[in-house]
Amino acid sequence: MHKHGKESVFKAEYRALQLAEQVLKQEALSQEQLLEGYRTLLGCYRQLLEHMERIARISDLNQRKLFNSHEAAKSRAELLYRAATTDELTEIYNRSYLIDFLDGAFFRAQRYQQGVSCVLIDIDDFKQINDTYGHLAGDEVLAQLAALVNLRIRHGDVFGRLGGEEFLIVLPHTTGGQALALSNEIRASIEEARFDLGEQVVGVTVSSGVAEYDGAQLETVRELVHRADLALYQAKAEGKNRSVLYRTEAAPSAEGDGE
Ligand code: GH3
Ligand code: MG
Ligand code: MG
Repeated sequence: MHKHGKESVFKAEYRALQLAEQVLKQEALSQEQLLEGYRTLLGCYRQLLEHMERIARISDLNQRKLFNSHEAAKSRAELLYRAATTDELTEIYNRSYLIDFLDGAFFRAQRYQQGVSCVLIDIDDFKQINDTYGHLAGDEVLAQLAALVNLRIRHGDVFGRLGGEEFLIVLPHTTGGQALALSNEIRASIEEARFDLGEQVVGVTVSSGVAEYDGAQLETVRELVHRADLALYQAKAEGKNRSVLYRTEAAPSAEGDGE
């Protein structure tokens, strides 16, 4: 119930209400007495409106404060999430996000009999870029190459930097053959691209190893990445600038149109 006592914000208004009740109880009121009561009531009504207005203002202000602090907390959380999942140099996903996403994709593939493939990309002779143009130029190539590949990543796939000059694409619901085709498109677009280092413009090539979850033998996600790594090793051994799909039957064989 409302407080009628001294503590109430509407002390004066309650007093006026009591007054009005008393006035109503009296019979045969004079015109004079009625007018006086009416005037008092009006005064209290005005005060009441002013009170209400102030309360509404304070409530608006508090609501705005609450909203602002909620927004600030939200954008702080977003910044933190971004920092924790993004590679600083290339601004694509970092290793930790990649591993988490790959774990999840692998789990879903096992549980729901869906496919998942991954493409491991490694820049060819990257040490030479560093040795020739310097480490900063190497960094610039990494950033530009990441941006270029990112443009070709399909919705639902995840592309990130595993570390150094190695990148990974995780492709849920994708067969090894489809992943190999995409990998070759990316490889070709990198081969055609020119990377602007300010003083000079350079070109690089990449090799990739592709592996797919075949729904049977693979027990862990590590094995999937290991297969991609084996295929990448083969691509390097066969002359670089190519993509190789790891094959379960027979020995892995080269694919792609590297020269
Ligand atoms: P391969 O074709 O066999 O892959 O030869 P490679 O020279 O690319 O391979 P290697 O593993 O011998 O060298 C990789 C180089 O990548 C060595 C290292 O200095 C460089 N590197 C790794 N991380 C970074 C980085 O963040 N920035 C720069 N500029 N260079 C990096
Ligand atoms: Mg490497
Ligand atoms: Mg390399």
